[in-house]
Amino acid sequence: MLQQTQVKTVIPYFKKFTKKYKTLGSLSKINETQILKMWEGLGYYRRARNLLASSKLLVKKYNSKLPKTLNEIKKLPGVGDYTANALMGFIYNEPTLAIDGNVKRVFSRFLNKKEMKINFEQLILINKKNLFVTNRNSDFIEAIMEFGALICKPKDPKCSQCCLNKSCRYLKSPNKIKINKRKKIKIMNYNVFCYVNKKKQIALTKENKISFLKNFNLPLMKKMKNNSVNENWRFLKNYKNSISNLSLNINLYYKFSNKIPKSYNWYSLNNNKELIPSFTKKIFNQVSILF
Ligand code: SF4
Repeated sequence: MLQQTQVKTVIPYFKKFTKKYKTLGSLSKINETQILKMWEGLGYYRRARNLLASSKLLVKKYNSKLPKTLNEIKKLPGVGDYTANALMGFIYNEPTLAIDGNVKRVFSRFLNKKEMKINFEQLILINKKNLFVTNRNSDFIEAIMEFGALICKPKDPKCSQCCLNKSCRYLKSPNKIKINKRKKIKIMNYNVFCYVNKKKQIALTKENKISFLKNFNLPLMKKMKNNSVNENWRFLKNYKNSISNLSLNINLYYKFSNKIPKSYNWYSLNNNKELIPSFTKKIFNQVSILF
């Protein structure tokens, strides 16, 4: 849940999730719609699908235990280098580091070397004896991430309070490296077309091939191009919606109609128990001004 998502956003989801699914076994028995419902509003839905797939694999193949080698852990759906190393360290206390943005920045500053010029795996391997001097490897992994988040912060590092300030090359150097900025926000322009009816319903479909909203119920969405919009659709408003590092610029159109294409179903603007992503809920809010 914490991948690309802030802790404060995750906490209520994590609590609700772990209360409902207390064991890997109980999680592995649910279906995709159920896990997506729990995840609703958290975004990056691929994480939920991977988590479910991993739980099923762990129960079936590994007797509900996490495998003990990095390579086996990396074979779980959605688990890459970072997560596999974090798991090896947190669960098995292995001497390793989970290299996230914070850890990269700490090393990069300490060595005053650009991140892209550092081979982190090699660096850890060569310095294993210097880095892992206690048996508290899982604490060390956590500590170095927190150190990057709280002391060697992206902006305004707290060098005067830093325990590394006597040997930090960044602090001493007159030619300090430039630190990578946050991921660029990508702007995308979409026309969204909503069928609505007098019963305060909106028609949604799963037919849209929008990669970041795959398998969700949405109105018709098309990339905004220069060509004009069919006059049967009436313009309602323009608004912005952010999804992770995407900024969506949306022109919202509507049409009152009782007839809808086959792949669509009607959804009430209020009291929906169906799986509706927060992106669609925002559309519901915009459309509700028609009533
Ligand atoms: S001295 Fe400053 S730049 Fe160097 S590691 Fe510490 S906080 Fe980061």
